[in-house]
Amino acid sequence: MLRRPRLQHLAPLSAPVALLGLATYASWTPDVAGRTVTAALASLGAATAITAFAFALDAARVRRAFAHLRRGGGAFALIDSGRVQRREQQQHETVTQLRRQVEQLSAIRDLALIANDDVSLEPILERALAVLGGLLDAREIVIFLADGPERDALVAVAHRVGERTRVSAPGDLALEPREARRALDARRTVVEPARGGLRAAALLVAEGEVMGALEVRLASPPAGTPAPDPLELARMLEGLAKHIALAIRKPALYDRAVVDGLTGLYTKRHFQEMAQQLMAQRRRLGTPLSMIIIDVDHFKRVNDVHGHVAGDAVLAEVARRVRGAIRGYDQAFRYGGEELIILAPDTTLEDAAALAERLRKKIRQAPVKAGEAEIAVTASFGVAELDPDAMKDAGAFIEAADQHLYAAKRNGRDQVRSALNPVEPAPAPEAPAGEDAPPVTASVKTKRARRPRKKAEPALDAVSEAA
Ligand code: GH3
Ligand code: MG
Ligand code: MG
Repeated sequence: MLRRPRLQHLAPLSAPVALLGLATYASWTPDVAGRTVTAALASLGAATAITAFAFALDAARVRRAFAHLRRGGGAFALIDSGRVQRREQQQHETVTQLRRQVEQLSAIRDLALIANDDVSLEPILERALAVLGGLLDAREIVIFLADGPERDALVAVAHRVGERTRVSAPGDLALEPREARRALDARRTVVEPARGGLRAAALLVAEGEVMGALEVRLASPPAGTPAPDPLELARMLEGLAKHIALAIRKPALYDRAVVDGLTGLYTKRHFQEMAQQLMAQRRRLGTPLSMIIIDVDHFKRVNDVHGHVAGDAVLAEVARRVRGAIRGYDQAFRYGGEELIILAPDTTLEDAAALAERLRKKIRQAPVKAGEAEIAVTASFGVAELDPDAMKDAGAFIEAADQHLYAAKRNGRDQVRSALNPVEPAPAPEAPAGEDAPPVTASVKTKRARRPRKKAEPALDAVSEAA
């Protein structure tokens, strides 16, 4: 390793050397040899002083030049060290930028791989958050999905704070969109300075369709590091958002065919498919299969009193409570307007009835907020276990559970009925012709039992307005 020049330290030495030269000259003048030695010492002293002075003047510059050489810089650098510094700075920035681009490209490749690997939304969102978290030094990342009939609402489905990641069914994460909302309204990427950093949002757009929005909160960079350029950040977010949108479009397409938009439950069409599969499995393996039919009580009144929008909110909330209470391998369907069905594999009648009872309590436990109103909700339940000999198809299975639902309605609603607690059928002649439900007979195999009229019901027990 090269040592720094220390020649300027010789300057103080040069004076005694020159004095010594003069003294020798004074005492030894006649001698030629003495004169020669004196002249040599005086010259050496003077030369040392001049050299040391020159080095002292240029010490800083020389030091910089040496430092530059040590870092592998060229000889030209010695000419202008300021220029060298500028060039070094530029090179450093270019390298940083290239590194960032490589990281972005690899993140985009990872996102594309996600789209290839997965068709279900949850793992896609989880992996997307991991990729984004690795790339952005973000305090918080939220992915919102576009929702509602006009697709102008944003519902949080994935959230990352630091290293912690949460992915949830729509509506389960209580996170309000901020920049994402602004981005959706303005249909463009938003980057804004915020306390202690930047907030930004980009729309998730795939093939012209807005799938949702990505919102990030970036911390201020540490002192000495340049702040991210808002334009560059916007461009990067857009690139990432495009690939996330493509990744989540796939399950969205799939889901739209089998998942009901309002409730997030499987559709009736998917029910037919699943019921056949599970019934076949029941026959093959001999494990029990049960069905719970749920019908919201007096739902028509909810619509009549509070309007259809509130009615929709009630349905969505009932479905959310159901989804939150069943096990992973239970399947919940929206079978009709306000009728839901749960298929519970490997579940006996007793267990299914207990599950239904838990659901009943959960549904009535708290009123549903819809705008100003708080709407009390109850539901009735019919439960049946599949008897493979007596129930040959899904229609017969539904009919078995539906009979008990019918009994629950007739008996006052807000209850669970099954073969474990049957209700005697109501005497048929009571009902006016054509209006009330005839008792279900074996000949109406796939036709569903008709529900009792509501006029027999007492006061409004299911719908009340608290607000
Ligand atoms: P019961 O206790 O006997 O079940 O009474 P009910 O009023 O719930 O039953 P009924 O079958 O008479 O009414 C169901 C109502 O549900 C009628 C229909 O307008 C409404 N409905 C069906 N689908 C939807 C929906 O998606 N949104 C809203 N808001 N209402 C719906
Ligand atoms: Mg109904
Ligand atoms: Mg109903």
